[in-house]
Amino acid sequence: KLQQAQEDSSAPATFSFEFFTPKTSQGVQNLYDRMDRMYDLNPLFIDITWNAGGRLGTLTTEMVNVTTTVLGLETCMHLTCTSMKLETINQALDSAFDCGCQNILALRGDAPLDGSEFTGVFHYAKDLIRHIKSRYGDHFCIGVAGYPEGHPEERDVDKNIQYLKQKQDAGGDFIVTQMLYDVDLFIDWCKKCRVAGITIPIIPGIMPISTYDGFIRRAKWCEIHLPDHFLKRLEPIKDDDSMVREEGAKLVAEMCEMLLESGYIKHLHFYTMNLEKSCVMVLRHLGLVSKQQLVGMDTKPWRRSLNPN
Ligand code: FAD
Repeated sequence: KLQQAQEDSSAPATFSFEFFTPKTSQGVQNLYDRMDRMYDLNPLFIDITWNAGGRLGTLTTEMVNVTTTVLGLETCMHLTCTSMKLETINQALDSAFDCGCQNILALRGDAPLDGSEFTGVFHYAKDLIRHIKSRYGDHFCIGVAGYPEGHPEERDVDKNIQYLKQKQDAGGDFIVTQMLYDVDLFIDWCKKCRVAGITIPIIPGIMPISTYDGFIRRAKWCEIHLPDHFLKRLEPIKDDDSMVREEGAKLVAEMCEMLLESGYIKHLHFYTMNLEKSCVMVLRHLGLVSKQQLVGMDTKPWRRSLNPN
């Protein structure tokens, strides 16, 4: 689907939504409801993140099962490989395979917070990709992570491009990037990727702005550059969340337009943070969702049975 969308130059841009696994069962139920509503916006696919470690990893596979088989959403399951036994990795992959999920975002996962050495069978994401390929052939469409402004453990952008190429060569089919706000840096990186022989689709990670503090905090956490015009327009209204959301939606939509105009991008991946309002505002500015799609969105009776039990 992604490939088709990339090849059809006259088609409008497509988009996808990323959700993370909630901590409580009520949170999970609320998220299913939200996913069902957001499905009406017509995303190409949705992602469910993987939390390294026991219970939440199982929750990812459970949620992928529900979104694929009950909600009927094209789903991409994130899977990390650090500190994981081969058996656990295979169980997660088998579970995705069995429920009909055909998309995996293959990741290494973050380094242990206590600074200890990595454990587990695979060291890098490329090792996990090779494993998926050897076990399932071409069944899964495999996504990989890209870092246009460097990775916290390796700031050198060119080295990261070499590593990205290795992930493509191992079997990666598309790239989803770290969140960004600096279009110039991003486009420069896309050019370098293409020169380095990276030919698979590049999908920018779009983080809508809900509050000023959240915007600053996440950018710091991911070590990405904030362009001056974002700060100039948001700083004076930073204490008014609703104005920040409104202005933030305009800024992010302007950024998306520039990305799409660059010719490198055909698809936008939204980090929803499990919220819909700010994403919808950006998509409205971009003309990618219509007013009709939003009418009654909050009150509509559910089309599907949302209770997996
Ligand atoms: P890799 O590509 O293996 O890279 C890891 C580090 O090793 C980097 O510093 C890289 O520069 C270096 N490296 C890579 N190859 C080589 C090599 N051959 N030689 C030397 N060094 C090398 N984390 C989660 O826990 N759950 C999620 O669901 C999740 N989703 C994500 C989604 C996206 C789109 C992105 C961008 C990140 C996500 N992450 C997630 C975070 C990710 O797990 C971390 O950024 C992690 O530190 C790196 O993962 P990777 O797959 O990019 O690893």
